[in-house]
Amino acid sequence: MSIAVYPGSFDPITEGHLDIIKRSAAIFDEVIVSVLINPEKNGNFNVEERVELIERVIKNLDNVKVESFYGLLVNYMKERNAKVIIKGLRSVSDFEYEFQMALMNKKLDPTIETVFMMTNAKYSYLSSSSVKQVAMFGGCIDELVPHEIASDVIDKISRK
Ligand code: ADP
Repeated sequence: MSIAVYPGSFDPITEGHLDIIKRSAAIFDEVIVSVLINPEKNGNFNVEERVELIERVIKNLDNVKVESFYGLLVNYMKERNAKVIIKGLRSVSDFEYEFQMALMNKKLDPTIETVFMMTNAKYSYLSSSSVKQVAMFGGCIDELVPHEIASDVIDKISRK
């Protein structure tokens, strides 16, 4: 069984993330969306909130689940018996950072492969932080985040 992990901050999940999740779910037997717990970086949404938003969005995708994890990705993957890391690529700047991480993960565990998926052109400009900026100043985020979570994202961000 091929198990892939899609790690990230997901603060919050966007249409760009969801596009990568759906395309990955069509390739791998199981996809685990894994929210990274980073004690040094407080997001706008806490980890439980991010997981809950993702749960709502992947509800109808049978072979996708969401979890959070702390520590080294390769250790977490071993616990889950997962052999593939999925990463989305939007730009050359994404590439430089991801390239370094993929090689480090390879060094830590040569049995794990990082698979890069090119962004959907429709979402190439989209990031969680740009969504939050738009929401903070009252812009429309309807096509930027899944419809199930749009109003909660606006409530949360505009209250800050
Ligand atoms: P961000 O805060 O930049 O959205 P995340 O850490 O939440 O970043 O992203 C998790 C993963 O999803 C990364 O591999 C990132 O490159 C990818 N990703 C984020 N947004 C998009 C997008 N619009 N299209 C494709 N991949 C994306």
